[in-house]
Amino acid sequence: MPAETRLFLCRSDNYGVLLHDPESGATASIDAPEAAPIEAALRATGWNLTDILVTHHHADHTDGILELKEKYKCRVVAPAAEAEKIPAVDLTVREGDKVKVGTLSTNVIETPGHTLGHIAYWFHADSVAFVGDTLFSIGCGRVIEGTPGMMWRSLTKLRDLPNDTRIYCGHEYTAANIKFARTIEPDNAALVARETQAQQQIAQGKPTIPVTIGDEKLANPFLRADLPEVAAGIGMAGKQAAQVFAEIRARKNKF
Ligand SMILES: [Zn+2]
Repeated sequence: MPAETRLFLCRSDNYGVLLHDPESGATASIDAPEAAPIEAALRATGWNLTDILVTHHHADHTDGILELKEKYKCRVVAPAAEAEKIPAVDLTVREGDKVKVGTLSTNVIETPGHTLGHIAYWFHADSVAFVGDTLFSIGCGRVIEGTPGMMWRSLTKLRDLPNDTRIYCGHEYTAANIKFARTIEPDNAALVARETQAQQQIAQGKPTIPVTIGDEKLANPFLRADLPEVAAGIGMAGKQAAQVFAEIRARKNKF
């Protein structure tokens, strides 16, 4: 049976998301930004929390862990490289590890850059990936602990996922990301179309995610740093992709 998801806002602009396996009843929370909205989503769905899959150690992704662990006795899965910074970890995982949520299976993809141990969870059979603060719709996370080159490699790993993979990210930043992206690729038709779509979603009070990796590839400048037209558009024709990416990321930081 296909996995079910439930998406909701936490804190100010964090996303909480539950992934449910109808066959076994297992339910994972991807990160735990805040306990109360996660518990509300569990009550609304009638699902029982069995796992928390942590993408990285930042407080706005881990603050709810202890409270949820206490109440639900759920398993906490976290990146091995950041386990010491994350509370109540039961299982540490690395690149290529497979983790089960009931009968659902996820592959761990290491995506360092935003933090050094950041990971994403790819549920191949369900065509869904939870990417934390590495990739946002039309944006990417700040490069806080790693280097731009490291972040670029991580983003290309996510870009290599099948086009129909639905991406769930850690924050609702889409409108601001589009505003910035239009300064990099003002004539990108897919980006213009995404802007119209996102404006409608926001006007209707709907989330702008999930998005497919196929759609993001067409419109997200941070996934397009190796395209000659993108490099040329910012005056960096012939430069290496990692350098072009670093320049786009630097411009976003100042935007
Ligand atoms: Zn973060």
